[in-house]
Amino acid sequence: MLFKKKYSLSFASAAIVYREWDNRNLSIIGKIDLHVHSCCSDGTDRPAELVKLARQAGLTALALTDHDTINGLAEFIAASAGLENFTAVPGVEISSRYGARELHILGLFINYTSPRLLAFLDQLRQERLERARTMAVRLASLGYPLDVETLFSGPNGDAVGRPHFATMLVENYQFTTVAEVFDTLLKRGAPAYVARRLPDPLKVIQEIHACGGMAIWAHPIYRESRERSWARRVLRHLVPAGLDGVEAYYTSFAPEQTRILLQLAEEFQLAVTGGSDYHGSRHPEIALGCGYGNLAVDAGLLAKLVERQQTRYISA
Ligand SMILES: [Zn+2]
Ligand SMILES: [Zn+2]
Repeated sequence: MLFKKKYSLSFASAAIVYREWDNRNLSIIGKIDLHVHSCCSDGTDRPAELVKLARQAGLTALALTDHDTINGLAEFIAASAGLENFTAVPGVEISSRYGARELHILGLFINYTSPRLLAFLDQLRQERLERARTMAVRLASLGYPLDVETLFSGPNGDAVGRPHFATMLVENYQFTTVAEVFDTLLKRGAPAYVARRLPDPLKVIQEIHACGGMAIWAHPIYRESRERSWARRVLRHLVPAGLDGVEAYYTSFAPEQTRILLQLAEEFQLAVTGGSDYHGSRHPEIALGCGYGNLAVDAGLLAKLVERQQTRYISA
């Protein structure tokens, strides 16, 4: 496929790559998953393993979007090199703060060798580590000392967060589930909870664009009750800053939620994406490509995304 080949050939300059894409050859069919985590953040599978699983699941495209890190992307892209009818999309999921809420922004088609992106992610990493250390001190003072240095030096040392602490607490103390640990100690307002300092979503959009990526608002109405009006308010803030799309298909969405997001995407002229938020055995109930079983993201969305991306970079 021309799209894939040219992308992987001239990765160093995303803007040039997009100019080279040829729409006439872009006929992507099948099912895709544009939101997946590997063990480089809080998933459990290696990036190369994800490519294998995606192929077994019959997916024709997969985006690796680890939290605040691109450490898995080189392996991910290498594992998909030369595969027929399969597109590996380099991505990242960056947490941001909007008022009292966390907004997650996916960066898709990012140039993961961009020094500016690396510097930005490194700054986020430092803040994440600082928070993890404070959390460890607090847990120790509550009677749950942990050998956190093994976490920091482990495979996801760059992305240590509450899920890793929760798993360690289940292994070392009398908790039966990760959910129980969150309820007792780690959820917002619980004794070991430490708030994260997160970047502004507008800054995140800017950084994603600076490395040639598309900025997508992930699971926009996740666990929100008055969803439509809230999402519209957020979009009025993010769209003028260049937000490219919304994730309208998502594992936990009811059909009504997807419908609301498709309408909002049309209203704000945004691209639409979809993904499972697969995390491997950390959330075994969520399957790659199909979520709880009824998620289906059409590959046609990827073609539209690429088209939109191409238009932006050509006119830029
Ligand atoms: Zn998220
Ligand atoms: Zn995610």
